[in-house]
Amino acid sequence: MDPFSDTLRRLREAFRSGRTRAAEFRATQLKGLGRFLQENKQLLQDALAQDLHKSAFESEISEIGISQGEVNLALGNLRAWMKDEKVPKNLATQLDSAFIRKEPFGLVLIIAPWNYPLNLTLVPLVGALAAGNCVVLKPSEISKNVERVLAEVLPQYLDQSCFAVVLGGPEETGQLLENKFDYIFFTGSPRVGKIVMAAAAKHLTPVTLELGGKNPCYVDDDCDPQTVANRVVWFRCFNAGQTCVAPDYVLCSHETQERLLPAMQSAITRFYGEDPKSSPDLGRIVGEKQFQRVQGLLGCGRVAIGGQSDESQRYIAPTVLVDVQETELVMQEEIFGPILPIVNVQGLAEAVDFITQREKPLALYAFSNNSQVIKQVLAGTSSGGFCGNDGFMHMTLATLPFGGVGASGMGRYHGKFSFDTFSHHRACLLRSPGMEKVYAIRYPPYSSRKPRV
Ligand code: NAD
Repeated sequence: MDPFSDTLRRLREAFRSGRTRAAEFRATQLKGLGRFLQENKQLLQDALAQDLHKSAFESEISEIGISQGEVNLALGNLRAWMKDEKVPKNLATQLDSAFIRKEPFGLVLIIAPWNYPLNLTLVPLVGALAAGNCVVLKPSEISKNVERVLAEVLPQYLDQSCFAVVLGGPEETGQLLENKFDYIFFTGSPRVGKIVMAAAAKHLTPVTLELGGKNPCYVDDDCDPQTVANRVVWFRCFNAGQTCVAPDYVLCSHETQERLLPAMQSAITRFYGEDPKSSPDLGRIVGEKQFQRVQGLLGCGRVAIGGQSDESQRYIAPTVLVDVQETELVMQEEIFGPILPIVNVQGLAEAVDFITQREKPLALYAFSNNSQVIKQVLAGTSSGGFCGNDGFMHMTLATLPFGGVGASGMGRYHGKFSFDTFSHHRACLLRSPGMEKVYAIRYPPYSSRKPRV
């Protein structure tokens, strides 16, 4: 017996009724989502603090505010995005009307992870609703306080005949995936991404996969070490390092490493105090299992800064590792904690080599006072996104697509890219029933005409 069949049938019927297609209906849903964020801000901040010890500031800029911004953008542009897009025509279609119509796919499934449990659930939801779909939302069971708010409060703000929150972990999600959806949007690990894609293949369902990986950060000798340290440390420690686009390891010369280390120590002390464990601004690892994994990485290489941990609080100190071997675990798997290994390279060419020998990352960073160096890293590599001289600022721009490439994922979203992702782009040509005499030249017998070569 499929526990989801009633819910899915209800949503499919709602989609077939056609009511999600109207611009007014879409706008009402988006406004509801906006009200949910405004009216439950404190509740959401509390849930994020309980799950991840997330500070109100980090919650605002990376979860609530960013989701609200996407709602506002979609509301402001909805009718323009929905408009048929006229396209240039060829000689044979001069008298016709040719355009792309953005149609909703139908029933969409959104599966989210726990590290930005609100942002990574609601930002795709904005795109799915704006595009006129019915939606099943599957939040992460690991960020359980946010999951509860999404399950109990969010549906009150949306049309429940077109929207449902489904709860569960791997087993329930596996069962859910046996059903046919018209689009699946998954954010999570590459391992589960493969499971989702295999399940989608059984129904030929298109997917977006927003996955993870190891994001390199090249630091050139020509740099201001303190500026680099401030930026790299902040982005590495933001959300206790549990960020898919966080700089995962630094590539630099040994000389630059020696200049960076005191600067990094200084940044950590300024940001989180002498005892980072008592800082209200440093997050915690989400759960026991995840903590054990991250703690295990502290044994790699040599600890140059930090290295402390406290299981009772799931606390990992901001840590920098040096003398790290490529074969060690910290260089093999995505770190997802406030730990930054430094790998020494002799220069730009070796760094580019190191990067291109590995899977294409979700994000790539390069720091240099020399803009030519930044351009060379950009030109010599590939990644989902790229930011020169800072951490993940590129993803704060809704005018840039956000997504991976290769092992870091497929597809893109944010802003209008989300609307386009959740819309089928239907190719339409409308021709008049007249002009038959002109069009008759294409019919057989062809032997009367000489093909032009
Ligand atoms: P995860 O892959 O373990 O879980 C993601 C979702 O899949 C959850 O909702 C979970 O319930 C479900 N799931 C887990 N196991 C499943 C299974 N066997 N079958 C079906 N569904 C299953 O990921 P996570 O631990 O929640 O998140 C961390 C990962 O997500 C990291 O790899 C990180 O890089 C990645 N991530 C990527 C992005 C991005 O935008 N590209 C953003 C955040 C996180």
